[in-house]
Amino acid sequence: MKPLLQNLAEMTAHRDHLRLEVSVLSTILQQGRNMQVRALELFNAGRDGETMLRPRSWSHDGQIVTSTFEAVSDPHAITLAQLPELAECIAASARSAERVSAEQHVLWLPVWLGERAQTCLEVTQPRRLSRHQRDVITAVFLVYQNYQSLLDYSERDALTGLLNRKTFDEQFARRGNISAQPLPDAPEQPRDWLAVVDIDHFKLVNDRFGHLYGDEVLILVANRLRSQFRSQDRIFRFGGEEFVVLLRSSTLEQACSAMERLRAAVAAHEFPQVGHITVSVGFAATDSGAPVEILGRADQALYYAKEHGRNRVCHYEELVASGALARKVEHSEVELF
Ligand code: GH3
Ligand code: MG
Ligand code: MG
Repeated sequence: MKPLLQNLAEMTAHRDHLRLEVSVLSTILQQGRNMQVRALELFNAGRDGETMLRPRSWSHDGQIVTSTFEAVSDPHAITLAQLPELAECIAASARSAERVSAEQHVLWLPVWLGERAQTCLEVTQPRRLSRHQRDVITAVFLVYQNYQSLLDYSERDALTGLLNRKTFDEQFARRGNISAQPLPDAPEQPRDWLAVVDIDHFKLVNDRFGHLYGDEVLILVANRLRSQFRSQDRIFRFGGEEFVVLLRSSTLEQACSAMERLRAAVAAHEFPQVGHITVSVGFAATDSGAPVEILGRADQALYYAKEHGRNRVCHYEELVASGALARKVEHSEVELF
């Protein structure tokens, strides 16, 4: 068994959330002989937004293993309501919950980042956790939570709280070339999409009402984006008044209607003082090409939307198929000189 301090040092060496999680679980696991630990991910599923949870990492034969499923399609997901002690704890924004029975002692520790808990650690032991075990687990957990919140802070944009450009570069742009997978031709086949959302004539908002009102509009649009998309989607503030959404595992129809709902919701909203504003959206599939190419395609669709009236959603592949846009020659086919 490694000394605790050494474990803590290793834990905080990770800047990747999943590796940090695995590290904290294995540190906790060493605090008891017959202990089991899990990291549960909380997410919203379905239109009614019911809170679900699913094991993302857990102990197995003394090792920590991680799930290969996406949250939404994880067959091991259950509703939060199935763990009433934890559901009550989350609803009350409390620090911990537990269940003590003759067979086992379960301790739940939600990781609070601001007002939201998206992860909860679960510790189970056949006998009651001793005072000492509890103290050590709680201390390790607090180090983890503090470090997690620092990491989270560095990944977000200060004004809107959305993920920032640096995080986009780390999570998407650096994922390398996506080798030509067989493209799902059937429109009902789920795939990932990248959308660029840009506020129309935003400069006018600043010019007419001042920067503070401009900032307020940005915050409100960011909130609308957050409520529009699911927890497995990723939303970034890309630049001033430009946002990027990575839409996971959606059919073309779902992607179109999500973007269209967003566009319509922004257009219908009465912004304090400013009145009505609109957004234009360009999106593209992420199945093939380097990240920079995929971003370029969504951008081309966005520019098409801007040149054709704004306040509209344009889909790159559709524009190309209809001949409205010429497919740009990809870098690999160009002779560089
Ligand atoms: P278009 O419809 O073509 O997108 O026109 P636009 O005016 O929205 O685009 P343009 O790129 O000309 O202007 C973007 C403006 O966004 C310019 C800049 O003053 C403003 N902006 C960028 N970042 C911020 C910010 O953090 N807060 C505020 N209030 N304004 C910002
Ligand atoms: Mg703009
Ligand atoms: Mg812009």
